[in-house]
Amino acid sequence: MIENYMAYLMMLEEKLKRFFDSQKPYIFCKPGCSKCCENAQYPFSQIEFEYIKIGFNLLPYNVKEQIRQNVERTLELKRQNKEKKFAYVCPFLINNMCSVYNYRGIICRTFGLMNVDVDGAGSNIPFCAYDGLNYSNVFDQEKQIISKDMYKKLGVKEEPCAYNVRYEFLTDPDFAKGFGFEFGEIKPLIDWFEG
Ligand code: SF4
Ligand code: SF4
Repeated sequence: MIENYMAYLMMLEEKLKRFFDSQKPYIFCKPGCSKCCENAQYPFSQIEFEYIKIGFNLLPYNVKEQIRQNVERTLELKRQNKEKKFAYVCPFLINNMCSVYNYRGIICRTFGLMNVDVDGAGSNIPFCAYDGLNYSNVFDQEKQIISKDMYKKLGVKEEPCAYNVRYEFLTDPDFAKGFGFEFGEIKPLIDWFEG
Protein backbone atom coordinates (compact mmCIF):
# COMPACT_ATOMS: atom_id res chain seq x y z
CA MET A 1 0.00 0.00 0.00
CA ILE A 2 2.72 2.52 0.98
CA GLU A 3 4.74 1.56 -2.14
CA ASN A 4 1.68 2.38 -4.25
CA TYR A 5 1.31 5.72 -2.51
CA MET A 6 5.00 6.42 -3.17
CA ALA A 7 4.43 5.76 -6.88
CA TYR A 8 1.55 8.25 -6.81
CA LEU A 9 3.83 10.77 -5.07
CA MET A 10 6.41 10.39 -7.86
CA MET A 11 3.74 11.19 -10.44
CA LEU A 12 2.56 14.15 -8.37
CA GLU A 13 6.10 15.47 -7.85
CA GLU A 14 6.79 15.38 -11.60
CA LYS A 15 3.61 17.31 -12.26
CA LEU A 16 4.32 19.88 -9.52
CA LYS A 17 7.90 20.32 -10.69
CA ARG A 18 6.60 21.27 -14.14
CA PHE A 19 4.19 23.76 -12.57
CA PHE A 20 6.86 25.30 -10.31
CA ASP A 21 9.32 25.48 -13.23
CA SER A 22 6.75 27.31 -15.34
CA GLN A 23 6.19 29.82 -12.51
CA LYS A 24 9.85 30.45 -11.64
CA PRO A 25 9.74 34.26 -12.01
CA TYR A 26 7.00 34.41 -9.34
CA ILE A 27 8.27 31.90 -6.80
CA PHE A 28 10.40 33.19 -3.93
CA CYS A 29 10.41 30.11 -1.68
CA LYS A 30 13.76 29.44 -0.08
CA PRO A 31 15.07 27.37 2.84
CA GLY A 32 14.19 29.03 6.12
CA CYS A 33 10.98 30.58 4.83
CA SER A 34 8.30 28.68 6.69
CA LYS A 35 5.30 31.01 6.88
CA CYS A 36 3.17 28.45 5.07
CA CYS A 37 3.79 25.94 7.90
CA GLU A 38 2.92 28.35 10.71
CA ASN A 39 -0.78 29.12 10.57
CA ALA A 40 -3.00 26.53 8.91
CA GLN A 41 -4.94 23.30 9.43
CA TYR A 42 -3.00 20.99 7.05
CA PRO A 43 -5.51 18.39 5.86
CA PHE A 44 -3.90 14.94 5.96
CA SER A 45 -5.34 11.66 4.77
CA GLN A 46 -4.69 8.42 6.60
CA ILE A 47 -2.09 7.27 4.09
CA GLU A 48 -0.25 10.60 4.28
CA PHE A 49 -0.14 10.26 8.04
CA GLU A 50 1.23 6.71 7.74
CA TYR A 51 3.90 8.03 5.41
CA ILE A 52 4.93 10.99 7.58
CA LYS A 53 5.29 8.57 10.50
CA ILE A 54 7.93 6.70 8.50
CA GLY A 55 9.88 9.95 8.17
CA PHE A 56 9.42 10.67 11.86
CA ASN A 57 10.79 7.27 12.85
CA LEU A 58 13.98 7.96 10.90
CA LEU A 59 14.74 11.16 12.85
CA PRO A 60 17.32 11.43 15.65
CA TYR A 61 15.95 11.01 19.18
CA ASN A 62 16.27 14.69 20.15
CA VAL A 63 14.30 15.87 17.10
CA LYS A 64 11.60 13.31 17.80
CA GLU A 65 11.38 14.66 21.34
CA GLN A 66 10.97 18.23 20.06
CA ILE A 67 8.17 17.10 17.76
CA ARG A 68 6.47 15.21 20.60
CA GLN A 69 6.59 18.38 22.71
CA ASN A 70 5.24 20.43 19.80
CA VAL A 71 2.37 17.97 19.40
CA GLU A 72 1.52 18.15 23.11
CA ARG A 73 1.63 21.93 23.07
CA THR A 74 -0.51 22.14 19.95
CA LEU A 75 -3.08 19.70 21.33
CA GLU A 76 -3.32 21.83 24.46
CA LEU A 77 -3.82 24.97 22.34
CA LYS A 78 -6.49 23.11 20.41
CA ARG A 79 -8.32 22.23 23.62
CA GLN A 80 -8.29 25.91 24.61
CA ASN A 81 -9.34 27.10 21.15
CA LYS A 82 -12.77 28.66 21.01
CA GLU A 83 -12.78 29.43 17.29
CA LYS A 84 -14.42 27.09 14.81
CA LYS A 85 -11.23 26.69 12.85
CA PHE A 86 -8.00 25.88 14.67
CA ALA A 87 -4.90 27.09 12.82
CA TYR A 88 -1.50 26.25 14.29
CA VAL A 89 2.23 25.89 13.69
CA CYS A 90 2.91 22.44 12.22
CA PRO A 91 4.57 20.30 14.92
CA PHE A 92 7.06 19.00 12.36
CA LEU A 93 8.48 22.48 11.83
CA ILE A 94 11.84 22.62 13.61
CA ASN A 95 14.08 25.70 13.34
CA ASN A 96 11.98 27.00 10.43
CA MET A 97 12.58 23.83 8.42
CA CYS A 98 10.40 20.82 7.74
CA SER A 99 11.94 17.96 9.73
CA VAL A 100 10.26 15.34 7.52
CA TYR A 101 10.61 17.08 4.17
CA ASN A 102 10.66 13.99 1.95
CA TYR A 103 7.70 12.56 3.84
CA ARG A 104 5.61 15.73 4.05
CA GLY A 105 1.97 15.81 3.06
CA ILE A 106 0.37 16.48 -0.30
CA ILE A 107 -0.81 19.95 0.65
CA CYS A 108 2.74 20.85 1.73
CA ARG A 109 4.02 20.04 -1.76
CA THR A 110 1.67 22.58 -3.32
CA PHE A 111 2.51 25.49 -1.01
CA GLY A 112 3.46 28.54 -3.02
CA LEU A 113 1.64 27.88 -6.28
CA MET A 114 -1.37 29.84 -7.40
CA ASN A 115 -4.31 27.45 -7.61
CA VAL A 116 -7.68 27.54 -9.30
CA ASP A 117 -10.88 28.20 -7.39
CA VAL A 118 -13.39 25.47 -6.65
CA ASP A 119 -15.48 26.39 -9.69
CA GLY A 120 -12.40 26.76 -11.87
CA ALA A 121 -13.36 30.34 -12.67
CA GLY A 122 -10.88 32.34 -10.59
CA SER A 123 -7.57 31.81 -8.91
CA ASN A 124 -6.24 31.80 -5.36
CA ILE A 125 -3.10 33.79 -4.76
CA PRO A 126 -0.74 32.38 -2.11
CA PHE A 127 -1.19 34.42 1.10
CA CYS A 128 2.53 35.27 1.10
CA ALA A 129 1.99 37.53 -1.94
CA TYR A 130 0.92 40.08 0.69
CA ASP A 131 4.32 39.71 2.37
CA GLY A 132 6.29 40.50 -0.76
CA LEU A 133 6.84 36.82 -1.60
CA ASN A 134 5.25 34.54 -4.20
CA TYR A 135 3.49 36.37 -7.06
CA SER A 136 3.98 39.70 -5.27
CA ASN A 137 5.78 40.99 -8.38
CA VAL A 138 2.58 40.62 -10.43
CA PHE A 139 -0.11 40.90 -7.74
CA ASP A 140 -1.90 44.23 -7.50
CA GLN A 141 -2.95 44.29 -3.84
CA GLU A 142 -5.26 47.24 -4.29
CA LYS A 143 -7.27 45.66 -7.06
CA GLN A 144 -6.73 42.11 -5.76
CA ILE A 145 -5.81 40.83 -9.19
CA ILE A 146 -2.84 39.52 -11.13
CA SER A 147 -1.84 42.63 -13.03
CA LYS A 148 -1.13 42.38 -16.76
CA ASP A 149 0.83 45.65 -16.58
CA MET A 150 3.08 44.35 -13.80
CA TYR A 151 3.63 41.17 -15.81
CA LYS A 152 4.56 43.17 -18.93
CA LYS A 153 6.98 45.34 -16.95
CA LEU A 154 8.79 42.24 -15.69
CA GLY A 155 9.60 41.31 -19.27
CA VAL A 156 9.59 37.57 -18.64
CA LYS A 157 8.27 34.93 -20.98
CA GLU A 158 6.44 32.75 -18.44
CA GLU A 159 2.93 33.99 -17.72
CA PRO A 160 1.55 33.83 -14.17
CA CYS A 161 -0.77 30.89 -14.20
CA ALA A 162 -3.09 29.08 -11.76
CA TYR A 163 -3.10 25.28 -11.70
CA ASN A 164 -5.57 22.83 -10.29
CA VAL A 165 -3.56 21.81 -7.24
CA ARG A 166 -6.40 21.96 -4.78
CA TYR A 167 -6.06 19.32 -2.09
CA GLU A 168 -9.58 18.00 -2.81
CA PHE A 169 -8.62 17.41 -6.45
CA LEU A 170 -5.24 15.80 -5.72
CA THR A 171 -6.83 13.40 -3.22
CA ASP A 172 -9.79 12.55 -5.44
CA PRO A 173 -9.81 8.78 -6.08
CA ASP A 174 -10.17 9.51 -9.80
CA PHE A 175 -6.92 11.48 -9.82
CA ALA A 176 -5.08 8.61 -8.07
CA LYS A 177 -6.84 5.93 -10.13
CA GLY A 178 -4.66 2.99 -11.09
CA PHE A 179 -2.17 3.41 -8.23
CA GLY A 180 -3.90 0.80 -6.06
CA PHE A 181 -4.26 2.56 -2.74
CA GLU A 182 -6.87 4.52 -0.85
CA PHE A 183 -6.35 7.85 0.89
CA GLY A 184 -8.62 6.91 3.80
CA GLU A 185 -10.05 9.40 6.23
CA ILE A 186 -8.96 13.04 5.87
CA LYS A 187 -8.65 15.40 8.83
CA PRO A 188 -6.36 18.17 10.10
CA LEU A 189 -2.85 16.87 10.81
CA ILE A 190 -3.04 17.58 14.55
CA ASP A 191 -6.25 15.55 14.87
CA TRP A 192 -4.31 12.38 13.97
CA PHE A 193 -2.49 12.71 17.28
CA GLU A 194 -5.63 12.76 19.38
CA GLY A 195 -6.20 9.55 21.27
S1 SF4 B 1 4.86 18.61 7.28
FE1 SF4 B 1 6.60 19.93 6.87
S2 SF4 B 1 6.05 21.07 5.00
FE2 SF4 B 1 4.17 20.20 5.85
S3 SF4 B 1 3.28 21.80 7.13
FE3 SF4 B 1 4.56 20.49 8.44
S4 SF4 B 1 6.57 21.48 8.49
FE4 SF4 B 1 5.43 22.33 6.76
S1 SF4 C 1 5.04 29.53 -0.18
FE1 SF4 C 1 5.51 31.58 0.52
S2 SF4 C 1 5.66 31.40 2.74
FE2 SF4 C 1 5.85 29.33 1.89
S3 SF4 C 1 8.04 28.97 1.62
FE3 SF4 C 1 7.25 29.80 -0.29
S4 SF4 C 1 7.61 32.01 -0.16
FE4 SF4 C 1 7.73 31.18 1.92
